[in-house]
This record gives sequence, C-alpha cells and structure tokens, in this order.
Amino acid sequence: MFRQIPSAEKRPVADVIVIPFWQETDGAKEIIPVKDLDAEILKVVKAKDFTGKSGSTMLAYLEGKKEKRLLFLGLGKEGSCSMESLRRDYSAFVKRCHNKPWKTVNVLVPKIKKLGEECVCTAISEGMLLTAYTFEALKSKKNQQFFHISTVNMLGIEAKNEKICNKAEAISSGVNLARDLVNGNADDITPEALAEKAREIASSFPSVKATIFDKKRIEKEGMGLFLAVSRGSFRDPVFIILKYQGNPSDVDHTVVVGKGVTFDTGGLNLKPTGSMETMKADMGGAAAALGIIQAAAKANLKINITAVVASTENGIDSKSYKPGDVYVGFSGKSVENMNTDAEGRLTLADALSYSIHALKPNRIIDLATLTGAIEIAVGDERCGLFSNDKKMTQGFIEAGDRTGEKVWEFPMDPEYRELLKSDIADLKSCGKRMAGSITAAHFLKEFVGKTPWVHLDIAGVAYIDHARRYHMTPATGFGVRLVIEMLEQFHAKSS
Ligand SMILES: [Zn+2]
Repeated sequence: MFRQIPSAEKRPVADVIVIPFWQETDGAKEIIPVKDLDAEILKVVKAKDFTGKSGSTMLAYLEGKKEKRLLFLGLGKEGSCSMESLRRDYSAFVKRCHNKPWKTVNVLVPKIKKLGEECVCTAISEGMLLTAYTFEALKSKKNQQFFHISTVNMLGIEAKNEKICNKAEAISSGVNLARDLVNGNADDITPEALAEKAREIASSFPSVKATIFDKKRIEKEGMGLFLAVSRGSFRDPVFIILKYQGNPSDVDHTVVVGKGVTFDTGGLNLKPTGSMETMKADMGGAAAALGIIQAAAKANLKINITAVVASTENGIDSKSYKPGDVYVGFSGKSVENMNTDAEGRLTLADALSYSIHALKPNRIIDLATLTGAIEIAVGDERCGLFSNDKKMTQGFIEAGDRTGEKVWEFPMDPEYRELLKSDIADLKSCGKRMAGSITAAHFLKEFVGKTPWVHLDIAGVAYIDHARRYHMTPATGFGVRLVIEMLEQFHAKSS
C-alpha cells in the first residue's frame, strides 16, 4: 500500500495530494513548500479560511497538475505535535475520503525534528490504517467503507522508511483482527472459534505454532478454576497456546495471556440489564493476544512471544459453579469463590500458573477486561497497570505515550492482599467493592510467583461506546500496539 517517493517534485500522478500545515498566530503555515502548487496554496493561506487547526481539512480543486485535488490538513501548533496528534490528524484525512472514489493519494510527509522521520511515518500510517477499518459482517449492505485508497505515496521520506510504513500496516492488521473478534457476535466468536482463528494464524505463518487443549486435556492438566467457570455453558472450553518464534536462536521469550470469556452473563451472580449488553467484549484480551501474534509474524519481528488463552463462556445453568464454594486450580491453591461474575481471574489464574510452569517465560503480561472498577477509576482513556516489576512498568509507560494506548500504574501494597483472606480456603476470589481492581490484581499475583509480570486491566478501553478519533467502531483492539511497542523497545534496550 505504501510507496516511498524521495521528493514532492518526483511524485507520480494521483487523485489527491495531502499537504500538512502548522497553526500559527497569523494563520496556517506550510511545513514543506511544494513549488508547482505555490500559487494555489498561497491563495488559500492568504484568505485565512484555513487556520491549520489540528485535524481541520480543506479541499481545493486543481487544474493541469499531477493531482485533481489538494487537501489542506491542519496539524495544530508545532509545539504540541506528538505521534498521537499525528494519528488523529491523519485520521481526519481518511474521514474526509468518505464515499470518494479516490484510489491513489500523495501524502507529503512533514519534517518534525523532535519526533524523527521513523516516528512520523509510523504515526501517519497508523492514523490512516486504523481509521480505514470497517466492520460489515453483520450489515446487509456491504462495501460501504469510506476508504477506497489502495496506494499511498509517501513523499519526501528516506527509502528505508518505506519499511516502517509497511510495518505499521502489518501491526494495524493485528489491531484490526482483534477489533473483528470483539465486534463479532458472541454466538459466532465462541471459544472454538478463537481456537480456529489461532490455527488459521499458525497455518499462515511458518514462524507460528498453535497448540489447542480440548476439555479432556484441560481436565487432565487440573485447571479446576477454569473448568469451574466453564460449567454453566453448553460450549466446551478451549486452552490456546499460540507460539511465535521471530528469533529462534534466542531463548528469551514473553508470554501474553489474554482473558477469553466469549460471553459473560455473570453466572449465578447474574448481571443486571445495563451491565450485560457489552459482554461479548469480555474476550478483548484474548483478541489482542491473537492480534499481537499475527502482527508480530506479519511484521517479522525478531522477538519470541507466546499467546495463551483459557477461553470459555461464563453462562448460567443448573450445572453452574457456585458462589461460596471452594475450587482448586492448576497451582494447587484453593479459592473460595465469592462471586461467579469474578470469573475472569479464575480463568487467568490457571492460564498464568500453567504458562509459568510449562513455558517458563522470562516475563509474563496479561491483558484482561477484568473489572468494572477500572472504568470508574480511569474511564476509557487509559488502562490500569499492575505489576511486580519496575523495568516492565517503565517500559509500558513509555510505550503507552508513543502508541497513544496509555497506561496508569496502580499501587500493589501488601495491605490490599489482606482483603482476599479466606477462613476456609487459601484465598478468596475477590474482596468487597473497595479497591476492586487492585484486589483483582493481587489475586492474579498469587499465581505468577517471581516471574516479572504486568497485568493490564483493559475493561474500560477495549470496547468504547461511540466512534471517536481513529476508532470507527466500538472495538479498539487496545493492547496490540502497546505490547508490541513495549517488547520491541525492551529488547532494543537490553541488547
Ligand atoms: Zn464477570
């Protein structure tokens, strides 16, 4: 999709050219002059109709030029420009393409010293690709997508940065896979469907291998907490291990566990109306984990990552697991189940303890739509981060700023652990309302031992309630770009 063109002068014919502007006190300022369009640009700038405000656009028609149209794109004030502001600004361009028959576009890439060309290319490409995503599987009218552009000429970039744009395309495909899985019906995106998707990814890339445990094998492994949750559904649970080896000569590897509850009724502690309607998104962590593997394989990243998902529905049935009963999982620890709607942590406990025992990762990350409390705390702008490791935490904070998938670190003081004390078992599955996200994290911590671990509570960010910025559907695919960015930087620093 992306092609590098060394300069504006050498650009090919296209349907539209996108030219970026800064917003200055006396009006819009062209960032890079384009000689053959000087007169047209000057006319608009002089009229002061277009100010260069972040995300603003203006379309002008050209005659006798390489393009029929010129799109003015405002990038706002130079001082407040960031990778995330670029994503949002180029998203505005894609929205402007709505229902237009434009096939090829010349994008004049701005020079922004403080970011560097690599970061600028990443942000612009992502902003465009993520906005161009559509989800039409459940509509009767197809092909209503507003973006028909198939060739993007990136003007004025270095030859090596074409690769950066293509890498952004590979990673965005992982985000879009996660979005598809979350937007899909819970009756379609079942545990077995997630397993099938994992097999499909493995068959597309020789660097990826899928291992799927069926219910019998899950029983044999003694994953009693995970199995307890699955009892209320007629669908069998599956345990997915999807391994990507991008650097087989290195023993270093990371496990990414994703919560994969494909629909959460709450179980016998049934959710009320108003709380259940978005629960097909309760596998947002699993979707991101599969998206991460697809993205890493497509981009051919030189790192090793394994996605692990204990997937089930949390249904309601006479066979349902019960509040107040004690269950034992893979680790051998007994858990007094305080609420059948706190099911995610039970599935994660078995996934985490199995992963650490059997896969022996150097570090483990879990992505989970775990608690409603996290949405109360930080809304849908950031996910909650809980960890036993300072270096990983710092890596995620930095990766969050670069990707725009921001994290917020929560305290893990041992005093909070006391809220999980049980009189009849090793621990309770949850405390009361107080500090609900932190006690959930403490519960998970019981199953990771000394392995460096980060838990990302994505309950607020995985599925938003209206389209915004570069998210045109509720499913955001949150976590795919964040985890990949964090791991890449982490490996670059440690090598
Ligand atoms: Zn639940």
